[in-house]
Amino acid sequence: MPLIGLTGGIGSGKTAVSDQLGKLGAGVIDTDVIAHQITAANGSAINPIREHFGPDYIDANGALDRTKMRALVFNKPEAKKALESITHPLIRQETIKQAFQQASGGAPYLVFVVPLLLESGTWIDLIDRLVVVDCPVETQITRVMQRNNLPRTEVEKILQTQASRDDRLAHADFVIENQGSLDQLINQVNQLNQKILEIQKG
Ligand code: ATP
Repeated sequence: MPLIGLTGGIGSGKTAVSDQLGKLGAGVIDTDVIAHQITAANGSAINPIREHFGPDYIDANGALDRTKMRALVFNKPEAKKALESITHPLIRQETIKQAFQQASGGAPYLVFVVPLLLESGTWIDLIDRLVVVDCPVETQITRVMQRNNLPRTEVEKILQTQASRDDRLAHADFVIENQGSLDQLINQVNQLNQKILEIQKG
């Protein structure tokens, strides 16, 4: 069963691509969604976060207080490291669980959506092929400013923490160019699905 990594910079269109691959039958495992699930109310990361950081970082609903945590880790690398040492193993565990569920449910291939796939190091060795969703940086900025109602400077700051466009493209087996319409995107994803199914046959 082919294991496909899917990455791209913020706002490049990873979710749009993985949604369509899911509709076509792929087993999609989105590590960003998992990161949110484990820090939502009753998520598996909540108790360890409360124990390490204190109850102030858990909101009234029992979920991670993202605003407070973001402010804490922003200038404190050791706090960021502590948070990641709680969340990363839990994300990994849930990723493996979902991969098995998708595989036993009959998905012809698995797609792991990992925003920081190249930055995180270990992923590249685990996957058979890498799909990169690409668009000009200016398009990323416009989309994220609109979607998240953020000022340009904030989006630019996030971009600085991510691999460069060239770096991602250099590692890609397949590139989805997402600077056109959503219809054009869907066409490319349909073709990509066919190519991945060919790998499976081969
Ligand atoms: P993030 O890394 O922030 O999770 P992402 O890579 O998953 O982002 P999406 O959420 O799929 O990106 O897309 C970002 C925004 O741009 C969304 O609001 C989406 O609807 C929009 N978008 C994506 N592709 C297109 C397109 N081709 N045309 C118009 N809007 C698009």
